[in-house]
Amino acid sequence: MPWVNHEMCTGCGICIQECPVGAISIEDSGYADINEDDCIRCGKCHEVCPQEAVRHDGEKIPQEVAANLRWVRKLLGHFQESAEQAAFMERMMRFFNKERKVNEKTIDAIKAAKDDPVKGIDAAIRDLPAERNTG
Ligand code: SF4
Ligand code: SF4
Repeated sequence: MPWVNHEMCTGCGICIQECPVGAISIEDSGYADINEDDCIRCGKCHEVCPQEAVRHDGEKIPQEVAANLRWVRKLLGHFQESAEQAAFMERMMRFFNKERKVNEKTIDAIKAAKDDPVKGIDAAIRDLPAERNTG
């Protein structure tokens, strides 16, 4: 999702006027901020910002990796023995590997649905084993 680099934002408010769902506001700091839950990822704020202050998701990868590692480090503090720590690290690898697989399969489904997105995504959801079981 897009995010605002406060070092580049002048608080001009142009992005707020263009956002179709009112997901952007000017915070007390005087800079724009995007509400992640409301944002529909239309990209308009990125297009209209005269300062290029609305940045892409990809630039946050290092911070998100750091947040993951801080979480792992925090949980690691609960395990003192080296065998316990090793088992915990294995579990963490399995957890993040599962996250990777979920993302890869989601990307594959989005790619496959490109020609007819609405029908394609609906069909992909229907075809999932869990969805069949709960349907
Ligand atoms: S358009 Fe750009 S500079 Fe203006 S408030 Fe939005 S993010 Fe900040
Ligand atoms: S991407 Fe679209 S919905 Fe999200 S904050 Fe920007 S203008 Fe609003």
